[in-house]
Amino acid sequence: MDAGEDGATFRVSDYKTRRSGRWRKGLERLASDGEAHQVPFYAELAGRALGDGWDFAGGELLFLESDDEDRLMDLSPEQWAKVRPSFMRSLTEKVEAIAGGRFPIHPDDGDHGHCSWCGFSTLCRKSHAPSRSRAAKI
Ligand code: SF4
Repeated sequence: MDAGEDGATFRVSDYKTRRSGRWRKGLERLASDGEAHQVPFYAELAGRALGDGWDFAGGELLFLESDDEDRLMDLSPEQWAKVRPSFMRSLTEKVEAIAGGRFPIHPDDGDHGHCSWCGFSTLCRKSHAPSRSRAAKI
């Protein structure tokens, strides 16, 4: 997070290794669908921690190993204001599921998908067809 010396605005930057297919939809749509969390979540946390008088000036994902034209994906303050209600609804559903002991799987076993670096893949139910089918409906 970068807080401006003006004491009025802050930005949130999230560094990623490379840009994979999951980012194709763009940060606004992913945040709206509850599929990208870091920038929106930290924007919310930072705004509350900094207190009154601070405004979110935007955030970005920075893909360190990508070519220059693919290195940046941003979320403007206007985009965040627009998608915030749906993001918060999705976040609430997830928190309620966790509190209720429900941990549905969300397999992404393509190239660079999160299953490729998951430490639980040998125990995961993703290879159990009925579990995978149920999870796809959530
Ligand atoms: S292997 Fe299973 S637990 Fe791990 S990321 Fe994939 S779906 Fe989730």
